[in-house]
Amino acid sequence: MLLPRTDQMQLDRFYDYLEKVAATEIGYPVAFDFDYSALAPFLSFSLNNAGDPFTPMTYLLNSHDFEREVVSFYAQLARAPDDKWWGYVTNGSTEGNLYGLYLARELLPDGIVYFSQDSHYSVGKNLHFLNMRHIMIRSKPNGEIDYDDLRETLRIRRDAPPIIFANVGTTMKEARDDIGVIRSILDDLAIENRYIHCDAALCGGYAAFLDPPPAWDFEDGADSIAISGHKFLGSPIPCGIVLARRSHVERIGHSVAYIGSVDTTISGSRNGFTPLLLWYAIRSLGQEGMKKRIAHSLRLAAYAEAEFRKADIEAWRNPQALTVVFPEPPKEVRDNWQLASAGGSSHLICMPHIQREQIDELIGDIRKAGGARK
Ligand SMILES: *Cc1c(COP(=O)(O)O)cnc(C)c1O
Repeated sequence: MLLPRTDQMQLDRFYDYLEKVAATEIGYPVAFDFDYSALAPFLSFSLNNAGDPFTPMTYLLNSHDFEREVVSFYAQLARAPDDKWWGYVTNGSTEGNLYGLYLARELLPDGIVYFSQDSHYSVGKNLHFLNMRHIMIRSKPNGEIDYDDLRETLRIRRDAPPIIFANVGTTMKEARDDIGVIRSILDDLAIENRYIHCDAALCGGYAAFLDPPPAWDFEDGADSIAISGHKFLGSPIPCGIVLARRSHVERIGHSVAYIGSVDTTISGSRNGFTPLLLWYAIRSLGQEGMKKRIAHSLRLAAYAEAEFRKADIEAWRNPQALTVVFPEPPKEVRDNWQLASAGGSSHLICMPHIQREQIDELIGDIRKAGGARK
């Protein structure tokens, strides 16, 4: 498959462009410190992981073995009950969250979904797809769900079983809704019929390595958890992991003769390459390597917060967060550094590949643009 020269030039220009813009990308929660070139030979196969990764499939060009290892690794990090969990590699946390909400709806068809104002924009869309009743709960200034508002709202809607959509790491402020606190609110109100989904898109990659860890996992009370693979771990193709209690999934699977497997996933054909990427990262880093990466990123976030303050820019971050929030700088700075903004704030996310020099340069740019203020 050779290209005409002009098309090759177009690709070359695109490559140069990517190298350039990657150097100033510090606003999104995606790690760049990976090298998966050893996996290039696998691009010569039409890998397809259709169906359930735990069930044999007629089409043999699948990477289900690797996919199972990947989800097992995260099941262990998320303290899933032995042999009573299930999961698969998704296209990302939007799909993982859709899956969690879908399970919740099948289990509690009359349920109401509670989610905070600071939830990811895709949550509203997922609720619309699934046509689920929902109530938005206030957030506290740090981005965490307002437990008082949640308690009051649950109290007056006791007729419908609650489905809690918890954020462990909100998109803008990396605030973590405490699943332990949520569970005790439900217990206090004697609400037994309930479901808790945990959106751990970014933080699921390292929550287990934090000290103390946030309350986010199965032992803390989650029924399902979504994690993105391209965020903390890092991947050239968006992907993720969804985990759920197995009994919930058994309610929705149907056998499909055409693929010789069980249809437990959202997509039909599924990416067989991303499980290889995730597997490669997990095996090459190991838990020790991951611990080092998060420790490095946390040091960087502390450095960034301190440097912003030295420069008279009111920056802050949640405890043990990689996300440093600061007043929205002028547009030219936001554009150059690809900074997301909402409600007058922007953020820098100290992913493992970010360098101190980039932070220093960003702060210099904000000052030059007159964006520093007390
Ligand atoms: C990124 C993110 C998502 C969406 O995840 P994708 O993998 O991009 O689909 C959902 N929730 C939160 C909190 C996120 O940060």
